[in-house]
Amino acid sequence: MAAQQDSRIYPLDRIRNIGVIAHIDAGKTTTTERILYYTGKTYKIGDIDEGTTVTDWMEQERERGITIVSAAVTTFWIPKTGPLADIEHRVNIIDTPGHVDFTAEVERSLRVLDGGVTVLDAEEGVQSQSETVWRQADKYNVPRICFINKMDKLGADYIETLKSIREKLGAPAYPYNLPIGKENEFVGVVDLLTRKGFVWGDDPSGMKFNEVEVPSDMHDDVEKYRNELIEKISETNDKLLEKYLGGEEPTMKELMQALRAATIAYKIVPVLAGSSLRNKGVQPLLDAVINFLPSPLDIPQVRGYNPKTGADEARANDINAPFAGIAFKVQIDPHVGKLTYVRVYSGTLKSGSSVLNVTKSERERIGRILLMHADKREEIKEAFAGEIVAVIGLTRTTTGDTLADESNPIVLESITFPEPVISLAIEPKTKADQEKLGLALSRLSEEDPTFRIRSDHETGQTIISGMGELQLEIMVDRMKREFKVEANVGRPQVAYRETITKVAEGEGKYIKQTGGRGQYGHCLLRIEPKSRGEGFEFVSEIKGGAIPQEFIPAIEKGIKEKMETGILAGYPVVDMKVAVYDGSYHDVDSSEIAFKIAGSMALSNAAASAQMAILEPIMKVEVTTPEEFMGEVIGDLSAKRAQILGSEQRGNVRIITALVPLAELSGYVTTLRSMSQGRASAYMEPSHYQEVPGNITDKIVAKSKGVVS
Ligand code: GDP
Repeated sequence: MAAQQDSRIYPLDRIRNIGVIAHIDAGKTTTTERILYYTGKTYKIGDIDEGTTVTDWMEQERERGITIVSAAVTTFWIPKTGPLADIEHRVNIIDTPGHVDFTAEVERSLRVLDGGVTVLDAEEGVQSQSETVWRQADKYNVPRICFINKMDKLGADYIETLKSIREKLGAPAYPYNLPIGKENEFVGVVDLLTRKGFVWGDDPSGMKFNEVEVPSDMHDDVEKYRNELIEKISETNDKLLEKYLGGEEPTMKELMQALRAATIAYKIVPVLAGSSLRNKGVQPLLDAVINFLPSPLDIPQVRGYNPKTGADEARANDINAPFAGIAFKVQIDPHVGKLTYVRVYSGTLKSGSSVLNVTKSERERIGRILLMHADKREEIKEAFAGEIVAVIGLTRTTTGDTLADESNPIVLESITFPEPVISLAIEPKTKADQEKLGLALSRLSEEDPTFRIRSDHETGQTIISGMGELQLEIMVDRMKREFKVEANVGRPQVAYRETITKVAEGEGKYIKQTGGRGQYGHCLLRIEPKSRGEGFEFVSEIKGGAIPQEFIPAIEKGIKEKMETGILAGYPVVDMKVAVYDGSYHDVDSSEIAFKIAGSMALSNAAASAQMAILEPIMKVEVTTPEEFMGEVIGDLSAKRAQILGSEQRGNVRIITALVPLAELSGYVTTLRSMSQGRASAYMEPSHYQEVPGNITDKIVAKSKGVVS
């Protein structure tokens, strides 16, 4: 650790890489913005309602009031409570989006942060999207604390929200502080362990707050939840348990340290109360971030594999180890061009050096390295293990790529993204627009890996696809606005898939022997259905050289190409196993191209008797509606082929959950608004792919063949 004394280096144990995670509208942006204000890096309290926050820097985000891109912001905080009091810490806040249309953004940020602050609405409790994001955070083992926000709101209920965290998320949630008052009367919080009250009084910025006695009507609750917390903390630590059972209360330092360890091990999720909008309770939240969430030293060493040997390897959280990091975000910045956000896991990244993009086997030069503060960029020469920085100068690197020391390459576990479910066609208006379009789309897809582009050879159109209507709408908006592309944009189309439902066999023979050198390719295949999401598998069962080994990959290639262009209605074929089991060849005439064509022919032939089906994306939809519109909403959903999963009362609204085919949902948000005088709202996310009913299959097939039914 001697090197840690180096004054250039911010000690690793004093770094927190965190993300604020929430359901849309829970108050993530407001909370992040207040954090930046109290940590001293912004100078005026911006208000999301007026569109002036720091993290929401893109125009569209401001207009829509939602956060799309995940920027990382560096800031500093000196906690006033706990064993780490009075020590400055660096907090890197990785912004996460609040809308599931941007799953990729959530996944990429979870991949690189060490701890999360989950913001909940004290009136709404756990909402469906909080559940989704919570499960994603589980996948990456991210330790969390919960902030029950909007305690000032009518109907706010801290204990009910706590219950919903326990019940819906199954989380070991325990209050760390309790709110003093609620709704209009919410004034502050009581810290349970110290039994100290904090009240925010006249200062409208919330910068100043006063320590007070526990209000007399709260004594019982404070003792009850304090005991519960201490008992739970003691259970996680043998030494404390012994003391606790012996009737002795562990010291404050012991409790805080054990609570830190328990939070990092996900045995306890500390819960805090506040109101970001009213500037109350944010400083204790910041103290909790420092006191309980992990530093880069508290997380396991990052693992990956050696690209040369395939062997598993780990890299130490040590600035002297070989450099390894992950590019988790590419942003096109209007001033400096391409900014690549990198989380350094081990070693040191130096400006002016070369590193290997191991994922792409390409060398990249590190230009400038920047620390992104809320209000300025600070150029630094080196970035150390545990840090999150933005790099200028990388040309080939995209989201999820591993960067590493050239002589010590490693591939770190990448980020997995779901397949797009919706697409639309774009036609540039002029030749000049065609070029601009290409550039714009490739830039936009570099920023977001769930946003895909392909060109349709038959129609000459460019097809873009993604996770939902909103995402595509925003991309088209940016294309027009930022890149000034004039284009005709089609209606969003559902991304159907094709699959087979029966085992079948087929033969493909491509033989041309008319003078000169001929062509000879011949194979027999068996195709078998696989379960949803299992993808494609290819095996060769050729024995005794019926087809020489060198032509097998060509057969596979022919099959894959055919699968991409579709068989029944032009949609990609998925979830199928193909086995080549026989064939023949010709000494002179056989070639790769002939076997490729034979493979493709054999597949078409087999598919003809494999009872093909069309699969459609099904969305999980959650509609929140006042009671009075309930009947109409359900009636409308049923007409949309929905499977209603349930409905639940929350306050004076009803929440209906249903599985609905995406094909039925175009413009649903607008329909719902007009049906309910603007009072119902819907939230949706992709759930799974499912077979389309027969009558609809016929329509889809007819449409693909240009037959209007
Ligand atoms: P995000 O979608 O999670 O980023 O949420 P925002 O920060 O944009 O907040 C959504 C809405 O809730 C905005 O209108 C905020 O002004 C409001 N809001 C945020 N925090 C609070 C709070 O503590 N109390 C109340 N009453 N409203 C809040």
